[in-house]
Amino acid sequence: MEKKDINWSSLGFGYMPTDYRFVAHWKDGKWDEGELITDPTVHISECAGVLQYAQTCFEGLKVYTTKDGSIVAFRPDMNAKRMQDSARRLIIPEVSEEMFLRALDEVVKANAAWVPPYGSGASLYIRPFVYGSGPVIGVAPAPEYEFRLIATPVGPYFKGGVKPIRIRVSDYDRAAPHGTGHIKAGLNYAMSLYPIVEAHNEGYSENMYLDAATRTYVEETGGANFIFITKDGKLVTPKSDSILPSITRRSILQVAKDYLGMETEERPVPFSEVKEFAEIGLCGTAAVISPVGSITCKDGEILVPSGMDEMGPVLTKIRETLTGIQMCDLPAPEGWVRKIM
Ligand SMILES: *Cc1c(COP(=O)(O)O)cnc(C)c1O
Repeated sequence: MEKKDINWSSLGFGYMPTDYRFVAHWKDGKWDEGELITDPTVHISECAGVLQYAQTCFEGLKVYTTKDGSIVAFRPDMNAKRMQDSARRLIIPEVSEEMFLRALDEVVKANAAWVPPYGSGASLYIRPFVYGSGPVIGVAPAPEYEFRLIATPVGPYFKGGVKPIRIRVSDYDRAAPHGTGHIKAGLNYAMSLYPIVEAHNEGYSENMYLDAATRTYVEETGGANFIFITKDGKLVTPKSDSILPSITRRSILQVAKDYLGMETEERPVPFSEVKEFAEIGLCGTAAVISPVGSITCKDGEILVPSGMDEMGPVLTKIRETLTGIQMCDLPAPEGWVRKIM
């Protein structure tokens, strides 16, 4: 198969329409079979639930080429389940795991020429999403829905690779109110745009959000969970019902325990403890792990001991192990890698 003429190693994290996408429709209480289409434009009612009342949720996962030329997805069943959880909270009809995985397989196979080659540092980013497409004007769930799964080749999320970033503690809450912090939905991202633009203007790459009720405990950033390494080499990650349950984080916990023999703790992390950690990282599908070098709060700047020049040794080891598993250079735990072709 002829690959597209793209300079894979210079790709950033941006959208590029590929040849095919999967679309399914929900009407009269059920989903149709869905199909691949070529049109990258969505045609829906001007009064669609997604446009009027933000009734939509999404997922994000990556597809890689392995050394032997196979094309694989990392734990897509977890994304399928999480999208069902998000949908339920938004009164959006659930997409079955079967349809989700079938859409993934079909879109990746149809766009195989767009999957970046092994060793390029790039991957095929998959964005599944579901939205109210039918008209509503009184506040109510939409009468019709669409599920779409699109693919776009991407490079690293943060330009400059794995350089440590400066972040700051935000005065804002990350998520919309009503306890929706654990769902992956545009409404939460819409609410995070003002704080992130402000943070960027003031020289920070990300916001650290604290718990909305007491502003005492670490939650997460706009789109990534925190992982902390203690001075004695333990992995600590915040436990909270109002953060997005990151699949990367759940994978890192298992990798740290089973591959690296580390002790791990998932528990509330008071912000007052942050200055004690040796290394701090952000984790998520887009960036995998990116290191944090400094955190500014109202009392001043906390300099993370691992510094501003490079990722600390423990996070580096975890990152190498996890990306090794994702790329099939290392043996994966049962069920973590879905071979698509
Ligand atoms: C997607 C997302 C993450 C990262 O989750 P992964 O499953 O690891 O990609 C973290 N926080 C928020 C708010 C997210 O939307």
